[in-house]
Amino acid sequence: MSSLSPKQPDHNVQDQGGEMGVSALENDLFLQRKIRQLEAKIANQELDLKNLTDQEEKFRQIAENVTEVFFLLEANSDQVLYVSPTYEKLWGRSCESLYTEPNSWLLAIHPEDSYYAMCSLETQFRTGDEFQEEYRIIRPDGSIRWVWVRNFAVRNDQGQVYRFVGIAHDITERYQAQEAMRRSEEQFRLTFEKAPIGMALTTFNDSFKQVNQAFCELLNYTESELLNLSFTKIFHPDDLLIYQAEKHKLWLGEDTDFQMENRYFTKEGNLVDTILKVMIVRDDDGKPLHFTNQIVDISDRKRMEKQLIYDAFHDPLTGLPNRALFMDRLGQALKRNRKDKPHLFAVLFLDLDRFKVVNDSMGHLLGDQLLIAISSRLSRCLRPADTVARLGGDEFTILLENLVSENEAITIADRISEQLKTPFVLDGYEVFTSASIGIAFNNNNYTKPDDILRDADLSMYYAKEQGKARYAIFDQSMHTLALHRLHLENDLRKAIENEEFEVYYQPITSLTAGKLTGFEALVRWQHPQRGLISPIEFIPIAEETGLIVPIGNWVLRQACQQLKNWQDKYPTHPSLKMSVNLSGKQIREGNMIDIIDNILTETGLDGSQLKLEITESILIDNIEDATKMLLELRERHIQLSMDDFGTGYSSLSYLHRFPVNTLKIDKSFINRLQSDNEHSEIVRAIVTLAHILNMDVVAEGIETTDQLAQLKLLNCEHGQGYFFAKPLTHSDAETLIASVPQW
Ligand code: C2E
Ligand code: CA
Ligand code: CA
Repeated sequence: MSSLSPKQPDHNVQDQGGEMGVSALENDLFLQRKIRQLEAKIANQELDLKNLTDQEEKFRQIAENVTEVFFLLEANSDQVLYVSPTYEKLWGRSCESLYTEPNSWLLAIHPEDSYYAMCSLETQFRTGDEFQEEYRIIRPDGSIRWVWVRNFAVRNDQGQVYRFVGIAHDITERYQAQEAMRRSEEQFRLTFEKAPIGMALTTFNDSFKQVNQAFCELLNYTESELLNLSFTKIFHPDDLLIYQAEKHKLWLGEDTDFQMENRYFTKEGNLVDTILKVMIVRDDDGKPLHFTNQIVDISDRKRMEKQLIYDAFHDPLTGLPNRALFMDRLGQALKRNRKDKPHLFAVLFLDLDRFKVVNDSMGHLLGDQLLIAISSRLSRCLRPADTVARLGGDEFTILLENLVSENEAITIADRISEQLKTPFVLDGYEVFTSASIGIAFNNNNYTKPDDILRDADLSMYYAKEQGKARYAIFDQSMHTLALHRLHLENDLRKAIENEEFEVYYQPITSLTAGKLTGFEALVRWQHPQRGLISPIEFIPIAEETGLIVPIGNWVLRQACQQLKNWQDKYPTHPSLKMSVNLSGKQIREGNMIDIIDNILTETGLDGSQLKLEITESILIDNIEDATKMLLELRERHIQLSMDDFGTGYSSLSYLHRFPVNTLKIDKSFINRLQSDNEHSEIVRAIVTLAHILNMDVVAEGIETTDQLAQLKLLNCEHGQGYFFAKPLTHSDAETLIASVPQW
C-alpha cells in the first residue's frame, strides 16, 4: 500500500450549468465569460490539486525512504489514520491489515513486553505526555524484532489532544550488540570473580581496583583488607625491581603484557611462589586504564623443584651432600685458590674398614643405621664451613677449607678416628668400626677436582694397606705405588699361564706328641723380573681382581696332588693332612664343590685328608652360600679350619653354627704371649671355647720356646711357625717327611 489515507477528501468539480441569458450574443458572451470563469476556476482547482499532489509526493518520498515507520492515530478512537509503508517491512504485516484491524499493532507485541507497553500507552492516551518505549514484536513468521517507539500528542486550537503522531524504529541490531556487550561484561565479571587463579586490577600507582576471591584466599586476606593495601607492598622486595621496570614498559606502550615469577607475603608473613602475568587495559583512545594481573600459585611446583634439586645433590640415606655437590664445592675451592691469595685446603677420603661384614652379618637395615650414625659423628668432628659428603657405599669425603696448617687437617682426622672408636649401639647390638682415611692437600698444583680426589683415594688405599684404622697423607710416591700395583695386576694375569706360581708347604706339628701332622699350602709367586713376591702383596690384588679364583684352584690341585704323591711314596705317614687356604671369592663362584670333587677324583686323595682354611669374614659375608657349602664339605669328610681366629668380629656367636673342626689362633696373639698376661688369657679363652665346641686348636706363628711352652700349658693341640719350620719348597718338605719318624 503506497496511497495516502482512504479519507482523502473528494476533489471532483461540481456542476455549475443552467443559467442561459437575454440575447444570444449576451448569452454567448455570458456563456463565454462563464466558461472562462469556470476554466479559471478549474485551472485554479487543478493548480491546487497539483500543489497538493506535489506535497503528497514529497511526504510520500520521505515516508517511503526512511527506515523508521511513521504513523498517525485518532485520539478518541483506535483508528489508524496513516502508517508508512516501512511498517510492512518491520512488522511483516500489510498496512491494509492495520487500517482494517488497528488492534493487530498491540497484538504483535511480545507477551512479556506487552504489559508495560500497554501501560505506558494508556498513560499517554490519558495525559497526552510523550510516550517512548522499547519492546519486542513477534512477526507472523515467528521472528522477533526489537522496536523503539515514540509518540507525540497533536493538539487542536483548544489544546485538546485529538491525534497522535508516532515513529517506530527497528533497534534489533543495536539491542543485540548491547546484549552481547552486557553478556561479555557479565562473563568477564564471573570469570574474574570465580577464576581459580588470583586476579587483580591495579592502577599505575599499584593500588587495587578489584581483587577476586582466589587472590584473597591465596594470601589469606579479605577483599577489603587487600583493597586498602598497595599491590607491591605484599611483594617480596627482590622481585620489585623487575616488576616496576616491566610495568613501566607497558604503560609507555612498549609492550602489551609481561610475565614473571614472583613471591608474595601472605597476611601471616609466609612466602608464596607465583607466576604473575600482567596485561595493560586501555580505553578506545589508547589511554591506559589499569593493569590486569593474573597470579598463579606455583608453590607446589617450586617445592618439588627445590626437592628435585636437593635430591640431585644429596645422599638420600644420610642427607649428606653427594658426589655431585662435593665435586662442585671442591671445584669452587680450587677456583678460589687461584683467584685470591692462595689458601690451604684438604680432601679427606674415608672408607670404613669392615663395613661389608657388618652389612652382611647384621642386615642392610642395620648397615644403613650405621651409615647414618657415622655421618652424624663425622659432622660433629668438623667445623661449620667444612663439607662432608657420602660418595656411595661406605665411602665418605670431607673438604676442609681455610686451613691454618696441614696439622689442622691431621687433628681432624685423628678426631674422626677417635670418634669412631666408641662402639655404635644399633638395635641393641654394639657395633665396632674403624675407618681408613686418605688426606690430600691442595699443594700439588691441582687444576681439576677429580685429581685431588683421586689422590685422597690413593692415600686411603695406602692407609688400608698399612693395616687399616689409620690415616695416610698423599705424597707423590703413592702414584708410583699405584702404578706399581697396576703393573703387578697385569703381570698377575699372565702368571698362571706362565707357570710362575709355586706352592710352599709349612709343617703343622702336634704340640703334645711333637710329631708332624700336616702342612699348610702357601702360594709363592716367582716374578720373572722382580723375583719372589710375597702373597701379602699380591693376594689382596688377586682378591680384588678375581684372579684369586684360578690361582686358588690351582694351589688346591697342586697341594692335593702333592699330598697324594707323598702318601704313595711314604705310606708310613698315612694320616698327614693338607691345609689349603680358601678365598671368599672362590666360595661365591658357586661351583666350588664340583671343583673340589674333580680335584679329589683326579688326584685320588681322600676328602678326609684335606683341610680347608677359611676366615670368619668369608663365612659371615656369605652366610647362606657358606653354610650350604660347609654341609656339603662335611658329607665328603673334608675338614674345616677357622683361620686367623680372633681378628674378626662377632665370631663367637656364629662359631657354633658352622661345622668347623679346627680353630687357628692368629699369630698376633701368639706373638704377644710371653710379654703380655692379658693375651695368654685370651688364648686360654679361645682354647677353652674350641674344646667346648669340640674343635681342636692350631697356634700360628710360634717362633720361640717360650711361646711353645705356654701353648702346651694352655692345652693347645697343634702348632705352626718358624720355630718348627718356615714354609718349605716341596722338595724340602719331602726331605722333612722322610726324616721324621712314622706316625
Ligand atoms: P695365613 O693363611 O695366615 O698364612 C700364614 C702366614 O703366616 C704365612 O704367610 C706364613 O708364612 C706366615 N708364618 C708362618 N709361621 C710364621 C711365624 O712363625 N712368624 C711369622 N711372622 N709368620 C709366620 P705367607 O705365606 O706370607 O701368606 C700370607 C697370607 O697369604 C696367608 O696368611 C694367606 O692369607 C694368604 N695366602 C697364602 N697362600 C694362599 C693361597 O693359596 N690362597 C689364598 N686364598 N690365600 C693364600
Ligand atoms: Ca692360613
Ligand atoms: Ca692365618
